[in-house]
Amino acid sequence: MRELSDIDVVGVVGAGTMGHGIAQVAATAGYDVVMRDVEPEYVDRGLDAIGASLGRLAEADRLDEAPDAVRSRIAGTTDLADLADADLVVEAVIEDLAVKREVFADLDEFTDDDVVLATNTSTLSITAIASATDRASDVVGLHFMNPVPVMDGVEVVVGERTADAVVEFAHAFAEDLGKETWESDDKPGFVTNRILMPWINEGVRAYDEGVASKTDIDRGMTLGTNVPMGPLELADHIGLDVVLDASETLHEELGDRYKPAYLVKRKVVAGDLGKKTGRGFYEYE
Ligand code: NAD
Repeated sequence: MRELSDIDVVGVVGAGTMGHGIAQVAATAGYDVVMRDVEPEYVDRGLDAIGASLGRLAEADRLDEAPDAVRSRIAGTTDLADLADADLVVEAVIEDLAVKREVFADLDEFTDDDVVLATNTSTLSITAIASATDRASDVVGLHFMNPVPVMDGVEVVVGERTADAVVEFAHAFAEDLGKETWESDDKPGFVTNRILMPWINEGVRAYDEGVASKTDIDRGMTLGTNVPMGPLELADHIGLDVVLDASETLHEELGDRYKPAYLVKRKVVAGDLGKKTGRGFYEYE
């Protein structure tokens, strides 16, 4: 496996919302980037979005270099063979297992054997994606958040066969891009979407069932729980198609997740009510 210090060229597959964001932060961190999509217009759209985002960051004085200098490190392509020089590949194509498996089978063929292959999937199984290759130990989840240049966190997802060294490498790479990481086992939705998707769907249902207006649901959650966006606004921000794909995967895998958790009931019966009693899920002074 290549060490972080051996990484010069980062391959990014997919130039959509996430792909172009990942390409941008990798180039900003000094890596050369090859970004691949299936049609020249999709590649161009991704490159244009990167140019616009870099321009905004420069205006806000949040870029150490001229936007053009960062932009010049990113090459766009529709040719998979152009990923042959990549020292690391991050895949960010549509959330469809068959498509991702096809991409990973191709990457297995086109890249060197010691290149780590990462996927940005939101909910699909890392193990199922990895099994399309002959090197499942080199496949890891690198789940960037949207918008990639703005969000600080990256979730590292560990597949059934992911090697420990590859997991460590994934954390180190994300940190090198200026991100902070946490780790999840390869279980549906990982940490973030397993918890976020029911929250969003419940917000949508509350609106649909007339609990409150759209704005009051969003205001209730932002003002009431101190999150930056309410569920409806966040769903729009993520993309309703992405939300639907993710929700369907979770529903298929996890079933009805909306009953009160048994552990909550048990703790209440025990009198462990949280901070006010000194003990809930955590202990307090
Ligand atoms: P998107 O639809 O904006 O972009 C996907 C891109 O992949 C498109 O440009 C499409 O043409 C391209 N593509 C399809 N097949 C391809 C192939 N074989 N080779 C190269 N490119 C191909 O989608 P997105 O929102 O960027 O999501 C990409 C991935 O990131 C998904 O797995 C999604 O679940 C995940 N993700 C999305 C978000 C989000 O908020 N949008 C957040 C975290 C993770």
